[in-house]
Amino acid sequence: MTEPAVSRPKTIPMMTGQHKTAKTRWVWLWFGFWYLFFAFITMYLFQTVSVWPSAGVAVAALLLFGYRMAWLVFIASVLVVLAYFSWLNESLWSWQILFVTAATATGNTLGAVVTYLICRKTSSMAQSFADLQWLLKRFLPATVLCGVVAAVFGVGSYWLIGWPWTPGYLSGMVNWSVSNMVGALVVTPLLMCQQLQPGWRRSMRQARLKLLALLCLSVAAFFLFGPGQIWLPPAFLQPALLLIPLLFVTLTASPCVVFLFQAMTFLLVWVGTTAGYGPFISASQTETDTAMQLFCGFLAAVILVIQALLAEQRRLRKIWAAELLSSKRLLEQRVEERTRQLSEANRQLELLSVTDALTGLANRRRFDSYLAAEWQRASRLGQKVGLMMLDVDWFKNYNDQYGHLQGDECLRQIGQLLKLGARRATDLAARYGGEEFALVVPQAEVQYLKQQAELMRVAFASLHIPHQGSPLGHVTVSIGIAVLMPMAQQQPELLIQLADEALYRAKHQGRNQVVLADEGQARAPVQ
Ligand code: GH3
Ligand code: MG
Ligand code: MG
Repeated sequence: MTEPAVSRPKTIPMMTGQHKTAKTRWVWLWFGFWYLFFAFITMYLFQTVSVWPSAGVAVAALLLFGYRMAWLVFIASVLVVLAYFSWLNESLWSWQILFVTAATATGNTLGAVVTYLICRKTSSMAQSFADLQWLLKRFLPATVLCGVVAAVFGVGSYWLIGWPWTPGYLSGMVNWSVSNMVGALVVTPLLMCQQLQPGWRRSMRQARLKLLALLCLSVAAFFLFGPGQIWLPPAFLQPALLLIPLLFVTLTASPCVVFLFQAMTFLLVWVGTTAGYGPFISASQTETDTAMQLFCGFLAAVILVIQALLAEQRRLRKIWAAELLSSKRLLEQRVEERTRQLSEANRQLELLSVTDALTGLANRRRFDSYLAAEWQRASRLGQKVGLMMLDVDWFKNYNDQYGHLQGDECLRQIGQLLKLGARRATDLAARYGGEEFALVVPQAEVQYLKQQAELMRVAFASLHIPHQGSPLGHVTVSIGIAVLMPMAQQQPELLIQLADEALYRAKHQGRNQVVLADEGQARAPVQ
């Protein structure tokens, strides 16, 4: 069942305050009108009381608005019974008439009240005609009881005062029960749907599309319950043929249209039977009416069950679709999250694989690949590449003196300072191995590199890390620098070799100094 996103203001149970009073008054008029309308066309147009659609109006009013509608049913019922007796030219002021009127009105009211007690107050289609359990366990049995209660009071009052009932009290009870039951089966769903289904007007407009079904219904009624009967071969005189248009509408239209069609089918069958057509005609008017009503009641019950099944199927499909969508979204979210975690882990892993754990500088692997790449680029563009190799002086002594952990801490401090030495975005500070460090400086000029190296040497010395094992009393570094413009066939190892040789010379010449390698093998220290 397609439930509305927004509640229709006409749905009384949802209303409060002033608005509620105004609407409820309007609703009493609405249901009072339909009760009297159905009763009077039944009595005066069809000239019978053994068909009773008003029972459906009474049940709908109570199911929607509760006990407060019971007095309306009672008053309307009293009016109708009095009108019936006045139509029969009975004196309205005899105690028997008043007794039968009161009993009949009480029976009609109690019948609706019993239905209400079984079905409970109903504020949505989902809780009523779209709910198969409600339909099977509550509504259908309740309509039977509704008829029986009304019949016991109505026929019982005749029996009590000794008025006869042709053809007998028992068949009178059966006929009365069936008439109220069918009234509830056919009319109640239509009136309740009209109140509960906010889009009912729209579905009426869509009903224009069902003209074919309407035509089919009219044709079937014309041949089965109308003058067309004489042209129909007897084998085809099957009232069940009416199921064809009715089922078509049930399977394709909204509940309001289905219930309207059901009521129209009932009306056509009733009109046709009253006019003397159709398979239910028998010698007794009561029997004819009862047979016709049992058929219509059966048809209505089947259609109600089918449309409830369809509504449940639609509801389940909606729930499944929503669940499928939400689990798909959840899955997408999880995949997205995992992908994000994975790429983050990859990034971390990549970083770790090129980072020296102790100092946080680039490791030897990164140094090698970076130098090779810069070497290639410089060779292509005809630029120079500079390299500084740094080595901590007398570091073995430092370890011996202060222990390896202190030695690690010293290397960490040196690493941090070297990081600051990589001033340009393209400079790369790396731990070459042990207590040796390197700084790759692309597009370097010799002068610039010398200045930077000197600055760094002074900066390391000014850290004043105590070092008893060094003649200078604090930690110092020796730096070898080399600058080359890569020539064809030359490898970056050449640059490392030159810088290393310069570093060796710096060590040799007393440490704590910067030495520039030159291709002419000049061995003079820079300082
Ligand atoms: P020089 O001035 O000639 O460089 O003397 P040196 O003692 O520094 O030279 P050597 O190469 O003999 O000693 C290097 C020392 O560095 C030996 C080793 O114990 C120490 N070392 C290498 N890697 C690490 C490290 O990761 N942590 C610590 N604490 N010490 C290290
Ligand atoms: Mg060394
Ligand atoms: Mg050393």
